[in-house]
Amino acid sequence: MVPMSDGGDASPYDVIIVGGRPAGASLAARLGAAGLRVLILDRATFPSLPAVSAPFLLPHALELLDEIGADEAAYAEATPRLRAFVLEIGDYFRSVFPFDVEIAGRDYFYTIDRARLDSTLWRNLERFPSVTAWEGAKVTELVREGDGRVAGVVVDRDGAIVECRAAAVVGADGRFSLVARKVDAAITEERADVVTTVYYDFWEGVADYDDSGQQLAQIYSSCDGFSAVAMPTADAKTIVLVQGRADYFAALTGDAEANYETLLRARPRIWRRLAGATRRGKVAGMKRVGNLFREAGGPGWALVGDAYHQKDSIDAQGIYDALIGAKLLARHLIRWRRGEVGWEAAVASYSDEVYAVCKPMFEATMGRLEREIYSAPPPAVAKTMMRWMLTHPEYGRRYAEFVTRRFDPATFLTPPLILKFAAKGAVQRLRRRLGGADPTDPLELA
Ligand SMILES: Cc1cc2nc3c(=O)[nH]c(=O)nc-3n(C[C@H](O)[C@H](O)[C@H](O)COP(=O)(O)OP(=O)(O)OC[C@H]3O[C@@H](n4cnc5c(N)ncnc54)[C@H](O)[C@@H]3O)c2cc1C
Repeated sequence: MVPMSDGGDASPYDVIIVGGRPAGASLAARLGAAGLRVLILDRATFPSLPAVSAPFLLPHALELLDEIGADEAAYAEATPRLRAFVLEIGDYFRSVFPFDVEIAGRDYFYTIDRARLDSTLWRNLERFPSVTAWEGAKVTELVREGDGRVAGVVVDRDGAIVECRAAAVVGADGRFSLVARKVDAAITEERADVVTTVYYDFWEGVADYDDSGQQLAQIYSSCDGFSAVAMPTADAKTIVLVQGRADYFAALTGDAEANYETLLRARPRIWRRLAGATRRGKVAGMKRVGNLFREAGGPGWALVGDAYHQKDSIDAQGIYDALIGAKLLARHLIRWRRGEVGWEAAVASYSDEVYAVCKPMFEATMGRLEREIYSAPPPAVAKTMMRWMLTHPEYGRRYAEFVTRRFDPATFLTPPLILKFAAKGAVQRLRRRLGGADPTDPLELA
């Protein structure tokens, strides 16, 4: 039995959550495990059309999925375990990064099938008796008390309009969040100057990257404002994605399908692998992916996941941020419902903590966009400093630790580290040259 505190004591639910994918479903699981009465609503039905996302799911996110009891065998069914990236920088060089980090007993990552992941998260809620989950339930409006405090939602459920009340409402409803719009949540920080557009499709029969027998994720930066990625995913398919400066995409004249194909054809490093492959034939993606933070909460409401904080997908942090944000919010909502803190204090603590967790990585991601998409390395730099650094084995290890948040992302590339990598890389390259083999051999064009 959870004692009530301030706000909506007569409500049938402690918390209503709008949105039931990574942020919402993981929040509901954590609140349900603590016995809170939760109503979670999603307009989709599961398994649903996947969210627009071509996601690397890295082990720091898998660890959070373990915490809520999500079944890896279900969400990663028929999905290859990946243990390496290959990074190709224009025609200059390539570097293979073994994914050299182990978290929660895993030394691998996935390109996950979102429909499978989201469905697993939704079905996981059946384990919690105090959680009521409605799919096919679209929230259309918020209910407010006389003083403006949010006290519930209006739901369109198969054409039936229902009003549901709770002590608090959480918007876990993604980047176009209705809850954020209805409460006028201010955008507190935004980077509109490094915005990208992303297109992708699913392919079958993509040729292996090489004859090593190892499946790996290929990232090709063409050093012209675009990059392309080939990611082996579930059911022997490969997601092939093109990302680029939003202004460059906007200047293309064709439709999405034509532009996608034209951009791939112009990138032989990727295109050579697609010769015998077939496409699903329906480009998905997003124009102008947002980079922003919103207010995290207010009277009777809170935001989590993309509804609170969005960023470019280049560092593959969206699902982790949604899961860790839900973990932090759950802790404060539970304390609030137990009467240990008031609503304002709970929201303030959540706001501080989630910002502290997300902000450093956000800055690092913005830095990568500036360096890798919004500017091109001069050839002299790409052939020397950059090559020495990126082909150094320690760089690969550090990159794996960076994207799994093993250290403060702000310290990923400090000037002394850059010098250390460059010096070691130059010596190593010289040694290997003298020995006759250079592991950073220039790529062969198909
Ligand atoms: C192209 C692309 C590539 C990406 N790649 C990666 C990656 O490699 N790795 C990674 O970790 N992340 C990646 N992301 C980001 C990731 O997809 C998001 O960060 C993540 O889905 C956020 O989860 P969420 O639960 O906050 O929101 P969402 O997944 O967007 O879920 C929101 C839910 O709210 C529901 N909803 C919305 N409005 C209403 C309403 N009015 N009533 C009821 N329900 C509603 C929706 O139906 C939806 O189910 C990528 C994103 C994009 C666009």
